[in-house]
Amino acid sequence: TRWVYGFGGGGADGDASMKNLLGGKGANLAEMSSLGLPVPPGFTITTEACNRYYADGRQYPADLAEQVRAAMAEVEKVTDKRFGDPANPLLVSVRSGARASMPGMMDTVLNLGLNDQTVEGLASLSGDRRFAFDSYRRFIQMYSNVVLGLSHDLFEEILDDHKERLGVELDTELEAGDWERVVAAFKQAVEQAQGEPFPQEAEAQLWGAIGAVFASWMNERAKFYRRMHDIPESWGTAVNVQSMVFGNMGETSATGVAFTRNPSTGEARLYGEFLINAQGEDVVAGIRTPQALTRAGREEMGDSEPSMEEALPKVFGQFVETVETLERHYRDMQDVEFTVERGRLWMLQTRNGKRTAKAALKIAVDMAREGLISEDEAVMRVEPQALDQLLHPMLDPTAPRDVIAKGLPASPGAATGQVVFDSDEAERLGKLGTPVILVREETSPEDIHGMHAARGIVTARGGMTSHAAVVARGMGRPCVSGAGGVHIDLATGLFKAGGREVKAGETITIDGSSGEVMAGAVPTIEPEMSGDFATLMGWADRARRLRVRANAETPLDARTARGFGAEGIGLCRTEHMFFEDSRIAAVREMILADDEAGRRAALAKIEPFQKGDFTELFEIMAGLPVTIRLLDPPLHEFLPHGDAEIEALARASGLDAAKLKRRARDLAESNPMLGHRGCRLGVAYPEIYEMQVRAILEAAIEVKGRTGDAPLVEIMHPLVGAGREMKFLRELTDRTAEDVFAQAGDRVDYLVGAMIELPRAAIRAGDLAEAGAEFFSFGTNDLTQTTFGISRDDAGRFLGAYLDAGVYENDPFVRLDQEGVGELVRMGVERARATKPGIKMGICGEHGGDPSSIGFCEIVGLDYVSCSPYRTPIARLAAAQAAL
Ligand code: ADP
Ligand code: MG
Ligand code: MG
Repeated sequence: TRWVYGFGGGGADGDASMKNLLGGKGANLAEMSSLGLPVPPGFTITTEACNRYYADGRQYPADLAEQVRAAMAEVEKVTDKRFGDPANPLLVSVRSGARASMPGMMDTVLNLGLNDQTVEGLASLSGDRRFAFDSYRRFIQMYSNVVLGLSHDLFEEILDDHKERLGVELDTELEAGDWERVVAAFKQAVEQAQGEPFPQEAEAQLWGAIGAVFASWMNERAKFYRRMHDIPESWGTAVNVQSMVFGNMGETSATGVAFTRNPSTGEARLYGEFLINAQGEDVVAGIRTPQALTRAGREEMGDSEPSMEEALPKVFGQFVETVETLERHYRDMQDVEFTVERGRLWMLQTRNGKRTAKAALKIAVDMAREGLISEDEAVMRVEPQALDQLLHPMLDPTAPRDVIAKGLPASPGAATGQVVFDSDEAERLGKLGTPVILVREETSPEDIHGMHAARGIVTARGGMTSHAAVVARGMGRPCVSGAGGVHIDLATGLFKAGGREVKAGETITIDGSSGEVMAGAVPTIEPEMSGDFATLMGWADRARRLRVRANAETPLDARTARGFGAEGIGLCRTEHMFFEDSRIAAVREMILADDEAGRRAALAKIEPFQKGDFTELFEIMAGLPVTIRLLDPPLHEFLPHGDAEIEALARASGLDAAKLKRRARDLAESNPMLGHRGCRLGVAYPEIYEMQVRAILEAAIEVKGRTGDAPLVEIMHPLVGAGREMKFLRELTDRTAEDVFAQAGDRVDYLVGAMIELPRAAIRAGDLAEAGAEFFSFGTNDLTQTTFGISRDDAGRFLGAYLDAGVYENDPFVRLDQEGVGELVRMGVERARATKPGIKMGICGEHGGDPSSIGFCEIVGLDYVSCSPYRTPIARLAAAQAAL
């Protein structure tokens, strides 16, 4: 098997299409090489080698060493240096690189191949002793941390000691001799910590680093990240070994990162940061504050240090050309890493850049207008779930803001929460549902779980491309980075800013779009759906086949839904209308009634209220379909439980306490989810459903009379399981309707249908259609409960264990279980259509707003999905993507 693919020197064995095998980084290094861009030569060890390594109990494939040696020889030839040669040493970096970029993975090891001899060679070749020992100390620290597992603190302390003794503040002030002494101290510390000297042999260093990359695939951070992003363990990681280029060779050397467009706003302008005389991750690690890449960027930030455009104009020009080539080639915004070695540009990485939802929208729309991509491609470019960021309330611009600090607008959106300084604490509070803002000096991959749990993130240090900023944008968390005015004092558990003290647990608000940090909570307003958002949604609406409705029962929900483009209501639950203050008394009177006449008398009091509710909904939804589900919950839910509550109710309402208790006892069920609920109420007490049907149709006639526009009423019976049940309910509905029409002297169209939420209903969908159902709505919440035999209310106790143990891959209540529940849906659809071609069918569970479940709805050929009002745009976009 071929385990190793080379790149560099103007060509490559692989290309960008080979991400599965070479990982994202390796595939793109190969692609850039083939495009003729300057890439330091190197080679990629495949993800297959990693998988084989694990399959064989952590053993390298037998022929791997030989292939690595051959590839290294090739790199030596191109660079005209030799790995481990004291006179002319080739140094390499060892970089992890999975298919998807994973910040939880291993840190890169730079300058590998240095030892006590080669460092001398590097010094004399470069003519720069300081540079050589600066590189060596970096290598010892990185290698010791990443491969040997020693803490960074060990080395930071030694370095701090040296600086203190010399009376200097910045690393750049240390000279060659100082670094030599630091190196000696580092080596001694390593020997002390692990009982053997720092490895001197280049070959041994290389295999140590390769092993560490493979091992990092299974570390806790990586596992957590994979779970969070649905990345399968079976992908494995590749290892990239690449000849070093040096950004730390003085004032004409530099290292930096850039985005071809602004990843936060989407603005079509080069955007990035760099550091002169620096190496590797200095830019993102927040050790020194990086400088802007462009002059415009510098002016915007109010920086005094020159930009790359000003400091290194010639190589900057070449860089601009290079990234333009890359963006045109990949037809997407690129996120690149580069190094300048003594005025010469080297590209170290490119990938499609992560971006906020706002930026994703703007970039997709802009690129379609620029003709770089088609409108359909633009629709495919925005992740539906990401729209969520834009659909939620933002800070009211007219509300007063008590600004205590200002940083960079690293990830847009607003968040309010309690100040927390520790990621574990953030996670703990987050689990309890407490909104928290994580406030840190800076973040590292160890903070991922805390960032995930937090509503927002503030860092005191770091730029727009710092770890905090990049990860927050990826997660959709608002973030303010580099808020220099924030001084954290962990010892006393507070931070100081703007002359104020804010303790852990106090509330602050952050605005990730302006970079402001505010004391207290700030009121929010609804977002506006215009501009790029409206444009992209227009393209999506043109592309999709599935209709999108909303689950809504209040006028407010219905208006919100229409505002978000819902094409009707897919589920209007009627029980909440029974719970409202003014009606609950009549509902209880009905439940306590001794006979049908008593129940009818009580229902007559409820009817005008119900009719009023429907009238309002129908006006808002004029001309659109509205599915109304008749009463579903068991009646005991409307009675208080416990003697004390019952007695209180009796006193307040004048109802008989003894009778109430008796009735509550009678109605108690040991398994209410499977008890006297749904259409079983309508069968046992037809008068309840008759009242509801009457209220619905009278309201429809009234709205038609008033506006000339009747809604398309769909009367839905819940929890139907058999043809005979459907027949009974259909007759009940039609009989009542004829009554209403006769009395009103007018008619409206209506459909009668069933909510499919029992396996039997799906299996016998043909019977239900035969018995008169004119539409079906798959209620996948209950259908998931009844198919799995899991009560959603009790699932919390064990579902976590199932997910942790990998017994279930996803929570079936969030993502439709396509193999089981989905199979029932498919069967229901087929059998219903076989009996009644053209029968209208949709889905109204939580899943109706989940993009992957919507993809499934498209495949089985449902007519519509229905979801919560705020998710309608997400569903519209997901439906378009499913159709394209
Ligand atoms: P990550 O995946 O965390 O971004 P990388 O493998 O991209 O890690 O390495 C981080 C940084 O290290 C790069 O952006 C680059 O600045 C530096 N680096 C990696 N390889 C080399 C190299 N061969 N020469 C110089 N710098 C390198
Ligand atoms: Mg890294
Ligand atoms: Mg990188």
